[in-house]
Amino acid sequence: MASSLRARRRSPLSVALFLTAGCATRSTPVFTAPTPNASTNSAAVARRFDNLRHDPARLLLFLRDMPKGGDLHSHLAGAVYAESFIRWAGEDGLCIITETLTLAPPPCSTDGSRPLASSIATNATRYGDVIDAWSLRNWNAARHNGHDQFFESFGKFGLAARGRTGDMLAEVSAQAAADKVSYLELMQTLDGGASASLGRQLGYSDDFGRMRDRILAAGLKDSLARARTTLDADEARRRALLRCGTATADAGCAVTIRYLYQVLRGRSREEVFARILAGFEMTRLDSRVVGFNLVEPEDDPVPMRDFSLHMAMIDFLHRLYPDVHITLHAGELAEGQVPPDGLRFHIRKSIETGHAERIGHGVAVLYEDDADGLLRLMASHRILVEIALSSNDGILGVRGDRHPLATYLRYGVPVALATDDEGVSRSNMTHEYQRAVEEQGVDYATLKMMAHNSLAFAFADATDKARLLREFDAAIAQFEARWATPAR
Ligand SMILES: [Zn+2]
Repeated sequence: MASSLRARRRSPLSVALFLTAGCATRSTPVFTAPTPNASTNSAAVARRFDNLRHDPARLLLFLRDMPKGGDLHSHLAGAVYAESFIRWAGEDGLCIITETLTLAPPPCSTDGSRPLASSIATNATRYGDVIDAWSLRNWNAARHNGHDQFFESFGKFGLAARGRTGDMLAEVSAQAAADKVSYLELMQTLDGGASASLGRQLGYSDDFGRMRDRILAAGLKDSLARARTTLDADEARRRALLRCGTATADAGCAVTIRYLYQVLRGRSREEVFARILAGFEMTRLDSRVVGFNLVEPEDDPVPMRDFSLHMAMIDFLHRLYPDVHITLHAGELAEGQVPPDGLRFHIRKSIETGHAERIGHGVAVLYEDDADGLLRLMASHRILVEIALSSNDGILGVRGDRHPLATYLRYGVPVALATDDEGVSRSNMTHEYQRAVEEQGVDYATLKMMAHNSLAFAFADATDKARLLREFDAAIAQFEARWATPAR
């Protein structure tokens, strides 16, 4: 019954059913019934927040202590700080091309590269230069635009991430716990590109059904089974590094992690199709993988050219896998970055054809055709927008009152704060909350609603979600009891 509701809910042709069933599948109450004390505390904390919000030191203490629910939009490699990549690259004997500060495989010096470990160990300036090159730290907009600085960094440190998924999971879990985040949905290329190889090998066809049959016949499920085994090993390494199950377990052990299969959308049509298919299949095969997303810059030539084709691929496959959750980067664009035509339809098409239940960024929503109608549709269909303030500032230059967060809130569109790439942005979830208060004028009730949304709109299964929401409600009640007393 649930799956047939979900299937109908996502049909672009049946808006009435979509609405009705949307309510049925998202029946989670906004807040569980508060006890009289909790409600008094909540009102007292809201008043205290209004007093401390203009005092940066007190605001920071408050926000560090506040339970923040989940992070629904985090790219695993982008969530890691450059210092960790430097350490791993050194341990793994990688080289660095000194001119571009890009990692290269050994042997060093064939292409002007030097061993990273020795070239950095005695050179603090170069150490700092590498961190700056692999992130937005000390980034100077006058010398290099934020978009390219951001995306080019992945190509520079990427080699250090190879074989380090378990290490990355340990780092982001520990950081999440420090930020009072209890749940992560991490975007990751879970099969290491095996599906893309199959796509390349078999070529493209306009007949999506035939292409799917050929990719499955060529062994897609075997590659995904191998990907599951790799993920088992990565998770075991995460637990070992965090000493989970021991007396000295890191707080990160308690963070629940789920994965979104990420599809690189800047590639050839056959590769993108094979990866989207792998995303649908993997979500069916492994309960830790709860959905998929399309990644890579939306303004790159292939995503711009093939945007509607990608949506058609998802639409076709969605009919075969109607239960699979979908969230899509859309409207991660700014005026002038692409021609006006390119700003007019990505968010709507992602919802109506791509069946997205959540939208990543949605910054360009006001430039879409019938923006008012789209915002009303997002509110009524409960399409959540994953808001990444630091990322939008760094990559798009959109900040303050140019950001549409206030508009989404005014229309009643569900929103949740997310980090996107906290390592590259040199951010963390607490910092995103701080920006929401200081730059967006968000009040305590809205912060609390966004934290709740980040779990209520998670793709985790119903049991996990109910547990996470219960734990969140208990943590918020404790937090409010602490902050309701004037002594603090
Ligand atoms: Zn993203």
